[in-house]
Amino acid sequence: MKEGDIHHAPRRIINVSNRLPVKLAQAEEGLSYTTSEGGLATGLSALFARYESLWIGWPGAEVAAENMAQVSVDLRSQKLAPVFLNAEEIEGYYEGFSNETIWPLFHYFPSKSGFDAHFYECYEQVNRKFADAVIQEAKTNDIIWIHDYQLMLVPQMLRAAFPELTIGFFLHIPFPAYPVFMALPWRKDILEGLMGADVLGFQTYDDVHNFTDSANRVLEVNFVGNEVKAGERTVLAHAFPISIDYRKFQELSESKEVLSASKTLHTLLRGNKLAISVDRLDYSKGIIQRLQAYELFLNLHPEWLGKISYFHLVVPSRDQVRNYRELKEEMDKLISSINGRHATFDWLPIHHFYRSLPPEQLVAMYREADIAWVTPLRDGMNLVSKEFVACNSGRNGVLVLSEMAGASRELNDALVVNPNDTEAFAQIIFEALNMPAEERKQRMKHMRQIVKQADIFKWADDFMEALEEVKSRVLPPSARPFNSIVLERIEAKYCCAEHRLLLLDYDGTLVPFYDQPDAARPDDALLHLLACIAGEPANRLAIISGRDRHTLERWLGHLPLDLIAEHGAWYRVQGGEWESRHDADGSWKTKYIHKLNGFTRATPGALIEEKSYSIVWHYRQCDPFLAQRRVAEIRNALEKNAQAEGLQLLDGNKVLEIRNPAINKGRATRRWLHSEPYDFILAAGDDTTDEDMFKALPTGSVSLRVGSKRSAASFFVKDYKALRRILEQLHHSGFPPNHHSSPVNITAC
Ligand code: UDP
Repeated sequence: MKEGDIHHAPRRIINVSNRLPVKLAQAEEGLSYTTSEGGLATGLSALFARYESLWIGWPGAEVAAENMAQVSVDLRSQKLAPVFLNAEEIEGYYEGFSNETIWPLFHYFPSKSGFDAHFYECYEQVNRKFADAVIQEAKTNDIIWIHDYQLMLVPQMLRAAFPELTIGFFLHIPFPAYPVFMALPWRKDILEGLMGADVLGFQTYDDVHNFTDSANRVLEVNFVGNEVKAGERTVLAHAFPISIDYRKFQELSESKEVLSASKTLHTLLRGNKLAISVDRLDYSKGIIQRLQAYELFLNLHPEWLGKISYFHLVVPSRDQVRNYRELKEEMDKLISSINGRHATFDWLPIHHFYRSLPPEQLVAMYREADIAWVTPLRDGMNLVSKEFVACNSGRNGVLVLSEMAGASRELNDALVVNPNDTEAFAQIIFEALNMPAEERKQRMKHMRQIVKQADIFKWADDFMEALEEVKSRVLPPSARPFNSIVLERIEAKYCCAEHRLLLLDYDGTLVPFYDQPDAARPDDALLHLLACIAGEPANRLAIISGRDRHTLERWLGHLPLDLIAEHGAWYRVQGGEWESRHDADGSWKTKYIHKLNGFTRATPGALIEEKSYSIVWHYRQCDPFLAQRRVAEIRNALEKNAQAEGLQLLDGNKVLEIRNPAINKGRATRRWLHSEPYDFILAAGDDTTDEDMFKALPTGSVSLRVGSKRSAASFFVKDYKALRRILEQLHHSGFPPNHHSSPVNITAC
């Protein structure tokens, strides 16, 4: 990436997918390129007219080393950039991990999934290759749009290299429910890979739910609804149902070529009803189940023998692979058995085509069909259903749609079927064939409106709009990064100061977070560091925490420092007794604890922490999905009363706290500031409660936010380790090692 020209470069979309929209062939006469104008290329074409564009992907064939430079030059003229893959990479990354692990698992066929570590290694390496290809090309204000299950690690690889980049990802296939997804040994890597994106697009809300649920369970994230903060970024998971170029299909269905093909078809049918199905050969498409339902229908309704013609189009796919070969054998057997049993001299129950048809013939089928069966066992969206709707206007045919196809979430006017329920399926075939003309018309009209309004161009626009909106939410950082120049300046101030005040938050600031709150007890190194700082005669050190006073006393009470507990409700000046704020009142707690008990019992892993003047409901140990529901339920149940009583429900790190907002670290900070004059003040903290402290500081103070840039603090530091290093450095500069401070017992109780 070239940083220099970033802000003046025109906005550009870099589209990244496994395949380029071109097929490369290497014949003796030379290289040849055939454009494959798929749905995605069509959808993006309008965007590419508005933005600069580049499409990065595999050109679909292995390219000899001596031809690579030429291929790159040739493709560049079409705004394409190749990622070259060798046979071994294609086998491991594409055939292996993508098609034999992810595809079956994500389509709910775990028994067909192989979990080969070598394939995953290959997948990772090839994803790295794609990421490197993007990194080589990208400029900071480019928009990167990555597609589908072959490239799920690429978003995070790009994010690690360029934190500011705008990255979108769209999954064209379903995202499975967690109990299925969890079978994947590399589930964490896949989720982390995806989380590198700003917007994660899925076909349906079910997929969004499944993804956010898995992310909440596996990663240290907490999607609330469909959004989560990942450091400074917002990650949005949202449904963008993909569609077709409605107008193109509609116009094609009225073209001369299609009308002529329709006429031929019409003559051939001799007044029979036409039923169609169009699928790629795949076990997810429910081909066998549909044939079984059709056979049952013919058995139950012999009056339809000779009156219905079923055009069964299956596009060949991967039939050298065992699962697919077996499917084809079973399909062929079943078709020949049905035809063998029911065919007559002048009638064939199934006209089977095992090939791809030219678009005019396909559209003629769509146009003439009285009934279309789109009945996959699982499908991300299914475009055939939408193409049928776009082309079938005159006929008002009936769409029979599987409830397992993403399209069923939009096309409510289809007759919805569970493809595994053979009896119900056969019955629905009967109903579809007997549906009154007016009802067919109304249903088709509604479906056409839906597909017309939400076409492929709208899909691409919606995705881009969401990406730009989420990106625009990233506020410019208000806290500046802490670096060695800043450190030198602060050291200089620290050295000359005679009365210093240091206010340090504890959890997340001096120690990391743990599953069990008790596990965050101070380690020896921390105790030593605090003892050294507190031991400097010019220093007054106060630990200012949300923790209860007993814990602070137990862990840090033996050190020469002040303790401020429960956000300021309790405090203890070094050597003195604990005091509480005179206006603090905890009498309201009993009622709320009683109510919370019910929620806690119903949520395994949850616990209530009672502090003197607040209650904390901890859910770090709970099933995240359940916890999310419970938090919403608790809010519904308590929020109104709490507000009326001047209390606040505050979301924290996997906790919900009920507290009196008047007790906060800002007020505690002011109390300390007013107790003595200081010529050096430093405060450090890591969460929202510490912002009150930062805001209470006088100008000229040094404030450090740990882990986040968005803060009222003057600087941010990466984590508790970085803060400890800064404190060590200050201690050494102000109080050189050869100077002996008074001995302090540093052992934790
Ligand atoms: N299709 C085609 N030629 C054919 C039959 C079908 O190009 O002979 C196209 C069809 O128009 C549709 C696509 O194949 O656009 C199938 O897409 P769908 O979403 O239904 O299933 P997928 O194969 O992507 O799982």
